[in-house]
Amino acid sequence: MSDLGDGTRCVHAGLPEPAPGDPFLPGPVFAAPYHLDPWQGPAGSPNGYGRPDNPTRRLLEAAVGELEGGDCRVFATGQAAITGMLLTLLRPGDTVVLPTDGYFPVRAFATDVLEAIGVRVLLVPTVGPYPSLEGVRLVLVETPANPGLDVVDVAALAERAHAAGALLAVDNTTATPLGQRPLDLGADLVVASGTKALTGHSDLLLGYLASRSAELIEAVTRWRTTTGSVPGAFDAWLAHRSLGTLDLRLARQSANAAAVADLLAGRPDVTGLRWPGRTDDAAYPVASAQMRRMPGVLSFDLGDADRVSRFVEAARLVVAATSFGGLHTTADRRAQWGDDTAPGFVRLSCGVEDTADLVADIAAALDAAGPA
Ligand SMILES: *Cc1c(COP(=O)(O)O)cnc(C)c1O
Repeated sequence: MSDLGDGTRCVHAGLPEPAPGDPFLPGPVFAAPYHLDPWQGPAGSPNGYGRPDNPTRRLLEAAVGELEGGDCRVFATGQAAITGMLLTLLRPGDTVVLPTDGYFPVRAFATDVLEAIGVRVLLVPTVGPYPSLEGVRLVLVETPANPGLDVVDVAALAERAHAAGALLAVDNTTATPLGQRPLDLGADLVVASGTKALTGHSDLLLGYLASRSAELIEAVTRWRTTTGSVPGAFDAWLAHRSLGTLDLRLARQSANAAAVADLLAGRPDVTGLRWPGRTDDAAYPVASAQMRRMPGVLSFDLGDADRVSRFVEAARLVVAATSFGGLHTTADRRAQWGDDTAPGFVRLSCGVEDTADLVADIAAALDAAGPA
């Protein structure tokens, strides 16, 4: 399928071979234990117990693996995938590089857990400068970073990491595997939240890890089985069902983000606009070279918390909610979550509404919100 376009690959990803009388995507298999062969025991079937084994989950892993270009393991949440990777790879005395401006709970985990077990944590802004990576075990970057939307050149950083004997992992949540393929760019591992644009319907939590290294996949699989952070069969099935429209959803989200960014760029009452797809954005040169398409997420500042509340209240099509990448346009004032962003900083996730409706609504809501 690798010679086919994004829409075709999404529609077919992970589906079993057609067989008369079978559904296109088999429904969720709900099982804790499975029947065992009385003589062969677990060796007699691929399914013995639900924590390591579930056929619905395996189909989803095949699908995401095809899109990322590696082997995939799914987790209950993105945070479970990321912390699972960190705890699988890091030992006391190791050094890990994490982004200063990435997903906040990963930094909280680094301070609460990694440092407590003797892992040295170096925080580096996504755009760099990156220190010498000699003696570093793992570099985790997020590109584009959530919520600031800076990017880093994955191929160049992979080269530096490998020269120093370090592994490079990329959090691909914001881009999705249609936005960029970090394994193709030289990364050793991809981690991501499937809660966001990948599944896109704001109705489930999911995470995944992908890699081309059988050794890394085996270590992570063992971690997942022993710690138990697997998604349920119904969520795995919903996620797989949603993947079929990923190309369509991203196309509209990205077009909406471009139009909204144009609107915001022309408004003197909006500052700090970031969208990596705008030619005058600091992230544009690297983003346009390494990304296959731009995300539907942008960020900007409305000056203070009250003005953000007035803006969201006045909007008919923008709802207040965290997370991003869903069908509905959402705005999140990140500082309300204890994030270290400015009080008026907003992450806006464009949904799949009609572009003209969304642009008109946002313009009217900004007018209604008045000055800061
Ligand atoms: C949301 C998010 C996560 C965590 O994913 P959950 O599914 O919420 O656990 C990790 N990284 C990034 C960049 C995210 O946006």
